[in-house]
Amino acid sequence: MATASAPKIFRNYINGEWVEARGGKVIEDRNPANTDELVGMFPASGAEDVERAVEAAKAAYNKWRLTPAPKRAEILFHAAEILVARKEDYSRDMTREMGKVLAETRGDVQEAIDMTYLMAGEGRRQFGHTTPSELPDKFAMAVRSPIGVAGLITPWNFPMAIPSWKAMPALICGNTVVLKPAEDTPLSTYNLTQVLAEAGLPPGVLNVVFGYGPDAGAPMLNNPDVGLVSFTGSTEVGRIVSQACAPTFKKCHLEMGGKNIIIVMDDANLDLAIEGAVWGGFGTSGQRCTAASRVAVQKGVYRQFVEKFVARVKALKVGDGLDPATHMGPCINEQQLQTVIKYVDIGSAEGAKLSAGGHRLETGVHARGWFHEPTVFTDCDPEMRVCQEEIFGPVVSVIPFDSFDDAISIANGVKYGLSAAIYTRNVNQAFRAQRDLETGIVYVNAPTIGAETHLPFGGTKNTGNGHREAGLAALDFYSEWKTVYVDYSDKLQRAQIDN
Ligand code: ADP
Repeated sequence: MATASAPKIFRNYINGEWVEARGGKVIEDRNPANTDELVGMFPASGAEDVERAVEAAKAAYNKWRLTPAPKRAEILFHAAEILVARKEDYSRDMTREMGKVLAETRGDVQEAIDMTYLMAGEGRRQFGHTTPSELPDKFAMAVRSPIGVAGLITPWNFPMAIPSWKAMPALICGNTVVLKPAEDTPLSTYNLTQVLAEAGLPPGVLNVVFGYGPDAGAPMLNNPDVGLVSFTGSTEVGRIVSQACAPTFKKCHLEMGGKNIIIVMDDANLDLAIEGAVWGGFGTSGQRCTAASRVAVQKGVYRQFVEKFVARVKALKVGDGLDPATHMGPCINEQQLQTVIKYVDIGSAEGAKLSAGGHRLETGVHARGWFHEPTVFTDCDPEMRVCQEEIFGPVVSVIPFDSFDDAISIANGVKYGLSAAIYTRNVNQAFRAQRDLETGIVYVNAPTIGAETHLPFGGTKNTGNGHREAGLAALDFYSEWKTVYVDYSDKLQRAQIDN
């Protein structure tokens, strides 16, 4: 019998209906700040469910493709308005299922709102181009066309923003979608799906299959009816996704790890740099692909920086993200917490100086969650593993350096290339840095996090595979160029042939 505290049971969304997964298995969505709290039960779907979703998306594609883009846009616009109205509820849901503080989950929902409005606007743009033909009485243009069924696989750290970063451009370009959200944060994707359904998205245009990656994500990758795949997550899984997409030549977008840096020059506004390093390093408990997990400080201000930074970090209050006094929430799950603990051991063994934190928090208000102290290593060597490998937790490694050139080579000396920041008042240094940093995103006098939805987002090297999301760049991934020549000369004209 259902009771007031009985968990809510959720279903997949296929062909406009909420349906049970075939296998009947479930995933428990639990609050990482208090694992006694069951947020909901979601289906653990399998290949058969994915197949149904792809079939529905394939069947809906032709009608959706032929729906005028401004009409598609009206639905997105309406969805954005619903999101605005429900922002607070959805933010609270998100904090409950993934732990980050309410200010940040509000930001996550806001990103979804921004992206939805932005892509609604693209319904009346999606500009192509025209150009003169080299032949008389001939017209030449390039237009964007949709690709087909888009398979989207998303992570837990931005559980509404990232699905919207992928789904909105996919939809406005005329693709239909099968979305497999992260197993740790299904409720936020459920909420987004609910909004799009209410806004009037026709059946089959968006389908959502909940479940674990290898069971509910992998079957999309070799399905011949899926035309493109967009994935955000770890570099390890990104490699699997890339390889699985290759045999059927799927267009594949990968957004993976980072080892982002904040460079603090001697002439920087030090207090501003410290605020930036705290926010960049410990926002979302360091669980952002753009988190500032390295801070390199020039030797003239190094000691001063470390003293103030460590004091600020020690003062951070760790707890339930719904408590307005909390600065930093828990890790997403036990496995992520164990990774953090492992890297604290690795850093200590490598000889990095543990200057703040370093321990799990597991008593009192922290007893039922995956909490870890905000942790700072200082006097680090850039080659240490804690300065090279993505930890995805509240651990920042501080590295001293001598010259600007040293800072750039430390920044670039990692296998990732997502985001980098420099704090300086010297305009020459700022411009050299934005030119020479090998990352997809560079900030000057701001931390490594804080992407805006109308600019391209993505990284180089092991972070990405050359595509970008957000902004106009997203349209380049979710559409294909079609070049159209119209010859109105009424005779055979041969390009490139000497007449
Ligand atoms: P994170 O470390 O952020 O959890 P993952 O790469 O493990 O990143 O997961 C990101 C997304 O990829 C999740 O939705 C997850 O379920 C999915 N995923 C994991 N393994 C696979 C796989 N083998 N095939 C397809 N998707 C996967």
